[in-house]
Amino acid sequence: MAKLGFLGLGLMGAPMARNLLKAGHDVALWSHSGGKAAKIAAEAGVIAKPAVAEAADFYVYENWLAGPHKIVLHRSGCGQCNHGKGRPSGHDPNHARWHGPYPTLAEAREASHQMPGVLIRSECKCI
Ligand SMILES: [Zn+2]
Repeated sequence: MAKLGFLGLGLMGAPMARNLLKAGHDVALWSHSGGKAAKIAAEAGVIAKPAVAEAADFYVYENWLAGPHKIVLHRSGCGQCNHGKGRPSGHDPNHARWHGPYPTLAEAREASHQMPGVLIRSECKCI
């Protein structure tokens, strides 16, 4: 049986991944919204491995204008992050910046704890 990887489980990816799993292939699933991979894995009777969900880069968004100095962790593919180029409305580039990419969530978290003066640390729902 082949070892395959699937990034993206949308209209095309999800049925293809299901068929490959039914055929008995070893398929690694990753989806921007983590729940889809878990759902397909459950249908196929296999276990969704957390490591698969980390097949993305991570960014840390630092913002020190709107209230307390805070940071938010994001996946690179998140709509707000857009690979470190996203900018929430109302945030100006002189008071916010992206850090990253970090190859793993653990490294992004570690880096976030090294940043000085941060009062609030949080993670986007994309994490
Ligand atoms: Zn995000």
